[in-house]
Amino acid sequence: EKVLFNDKMIDRENASFSFDDRSMYFGDGVYEVIRVYSGHPYKLEMHLQRLQRSADELDIPYSIKEKQSLKKSVMELIDTNNLNGDGYVYLQLSRGATARDHLYERHIEPFIFAFTKEMETPLNQQEQGIAVYLTEDIRWLRCDIKTVNLLGNVLAKRQAADHDCSEAIQHRGDTVTEGSSSNLFIVKDGQLKTHPADNLILNGITRQVVIDLAEKQGLSVSLTAFTTEEMLEADEAFITSTINEITPIIEWRGTKHGMMKIGPITKQLQSELQADIERTRSG
Ligand code: PMP
Repeated sequence: EKVLFNDKMIDRENASFSFDDRSMYFGDGVYEVIRVYSGHPYKLEMHLQRLQRSADELDIPYSIKEKQSLKKSVMELIDTNNLNGDGYVYLQLSRGATARDHLYERHIEPFIFAFTKEMETPLNQQEQGIAVYLTEDIRWLRCDIKTVNLLGNVLAKRQAADHDCSEAIQHRGDTVTEGSSSNLFIVKDGQLKTHPADNLILNGITRQVVIDLAEKQGLSVSLTAFTTEEMLEADEAFITSTINEITPIIEWRGTKHGMMKIGPITKQLQSELQADIERTRSG
């Protein structure tokens, strides 16, 4: 198995990281997870654009345009590892390595690596729905940047698991933001609602795809924040992510409790998304 290591493809056993890498000391790096369907990357351009934005926001001097090879390298890695089925590519860009100091210098050479992993679509969860755990959002105020500094998310996910829930849904006071590794949509009276893409959430690629598919279906999508009350009174709710696609919510635990049924709009969007994925599969 090969991994991408800067601009080289090397054996995974030989990939070793600098002791002084800033992503290790400070979580000073950004990342992307890109789904692969039947050997084809899904929405690769959007992921690379978001990676560029994350790097720019953190003042990491890395230009994907200059390194035109990044897209090619990702494709090559998929091929080299014979990932012909379903899986994903994990891609991480670190500010680089230098003696530990909070102050970063702009001349440090960024470091990029990527690996592939096979995975199957979690069909069971998509068909049966999941229980989610409501918890206070304790993260910083730049959740729009996809950084590897994920402590708030990691703690929320553990809390959810400790309550037999598959995902944590975070809220700041009464306002619902997003999952620990997913975005959240609710449906009320035929209208979809999801948190606007501001500094409080990650603008998920799946979120953007779902908004687009919904609008093409003539559904109205309101990009406005909603409260935990509104969420519990919704007709349907689902989370979206690269890994889990569209997963319906059937139970709320934590701060508030409630049950919910998988609804027609969730199912319709699931099948629209599958149709879009099918187009990727067939190349
Ligand atoms: N929000 C957070 C906090 C996430 O970690 C993720 C998954 N990376 C998402 C939303 C969903 O984003 P995407 O659809 O791009 O996977």
